[in-house]
Amino acid sequence: MKHRMLAAAISLMTLLLLPLPARAEAAQPIVISDAAGLLAMAQQPDGDYVLGANIDLRGVDWTPFAFTGTLDGAGYTIYNLTLSQPGEETRITYDGRHRGYHTVFAALFSSVSGSVTNLNLLNVKADLATDQPCFLSGIAGYLANGTIQNCTVSGRLKITSTAKQCGASAIAGFGRGLIKGCTVDAEITMITINPDAYCEEYLGGVLANGFADVENCKVKLSGYTSVRGYVHNGGIVGLDDVNPKDKHYSGYVRGCSVDAVLSFFEDVADRRAYCRAYVGEIQNPSLLVVGNETVNFESRESKDFSRALLPDSTENPVYDAVVTAPSDSEFGYTTYTNPKTGYSYTDDYTAPAHTPGEWQIVTPATYDSEGLQRQFCVECGALLAEQAIPRLIAATSCTMSESKLRLPYRETTQLRAEILPEDATNRNLSWASSNESIVHVDDNGLVTAVGRGTAAIYCKTGDGLASAACEVEVYFTTWQWITQYVLFGWIWQK
Ligand SMILES: [Zn+2]
Repeated sequence: MKHRMLAAAISLMTLLLLPLPARAEAAQPIVISDAAGLLAMAQQPDGDYVLGANIDLRGVDWTPFAFTGTLDGAGYTIYNLTLSQPGEETRITYDGRHRGYHTVFAALFSSVSGSVTNLNLLNVKADLATDQPCFLSGIAGYLANGTIQNCTVSGRLKITSTAKQCGASAIAGFGRGLIKGCTVDAEITMITINPDAYCEEYLGGVLANGFADVENCKVKLSGYTSVRGYVHNGGIVGLDDVNPKDKHYSGYVRGCSVDAVLSFFEDVADRRAYCRAYVGEIQNPSLLVVGNETVNFESRESKDFSRALLPDSTENPVYDAVVTAPSDSEFGYTTYTNPKTGYSYTDDYTAPAHTPGEWQIVTPATYDSEGLQRQFCVECGALLAEQAIPRLIAATSCTMSESKLRLPYRETTQLRAEILPEDATNRNLSWASSNESIVHVDDNGLVTAVGRGTAAIYCKTGDGLASAACEVEVYFTTWQWITQYVLFGWIWQK
């Protein structure tokens, strides 16, 4: 019996001491909480990452790179990203006739072959000019069979190109893969009016050109495309085309909703002017476009090729700025409105934050001890700050400018008083006369002689801890004597 118990105890201890062999060596994702962490991803683009905070990229010089790892946004937001240049990566993209172009990409990532999930991209901006074939997008310039899921992108993207191939979208530029459950709120402007080149242009809320599977995405899109060449504009996908070899692919664009206004012109003789709510042009006969919803769709074609179509066509517009403060859960931003056209956009986003209320005194300060005050969020009541209130400083002396004076009847004079120390908390003074029928004093120390005789003027510090006095003798001048008692005293008295 004893042996059995001992054996059981030993085997139990052995079990406890042994490392768990079943535990897989699952690598922990790298947590990114600031702009420096995002920039460092370029050094290890095959890593697994998770965001640990909202990240402001205002003023950060971002160079897109090929991302082959995984990024879980964890519901956090990257905001104020400005795309001022394409990345170094080039890949071949194809037009509708399967002609290939060496292409560059401007987006958070020049390409995505892994996955990007649960990421919000708020206020992504671009105003690019290029002479190379280029795709501009929010998350992936080129989707290399990667996955983009549960992401949101909002912002304003503009590209001006003289090349023969140009595309823009909010989620992915060119390619294939899976785009699911994403939300877009974007304004996209493309100007490709090189008089010497007919451009193949692609605009899609989710994907500009390719054959990605798109599912359950929600698009709000304002498009402005001015093209000398061929327009392929769609609320969800610009051109759906299988390339270069997979001629048969049973892809889908399904369960999405579209709220889009697409303004465009197509300056070309054999115009096709593809502009549709879901997919601009479908070249893949196996593509399934089902279960999508049109909240609103307007295709506005212009035949005036003399000027590019812009969100705000005013020359040198002047905008009124109105700041919306952040709340506990919402980002703050500035709304810029052109009063002439009514066009407005938002920019300069600020992180969600508490709203500080007035300081509240918890314990008032006294002459013996410090007090305490606190500041709370007016929205959620969280304690934001706590501060000591300095101990009160008592007045130790009060000295009047005169200690004794003589004043003719009906004259006035100004008395002043000095309080020490200079940093005494209460700098107020109160004034009083010992006899109002002889001298009157106002709140500012102005003394008026109202009757013959002697009285005292007192002043006291606001804290009541120091005081001073001045003796005032009121007398009649010779002329006053004569007037009062010899001549018209009875009238003068009135
Ligand atoms: Zn709060």
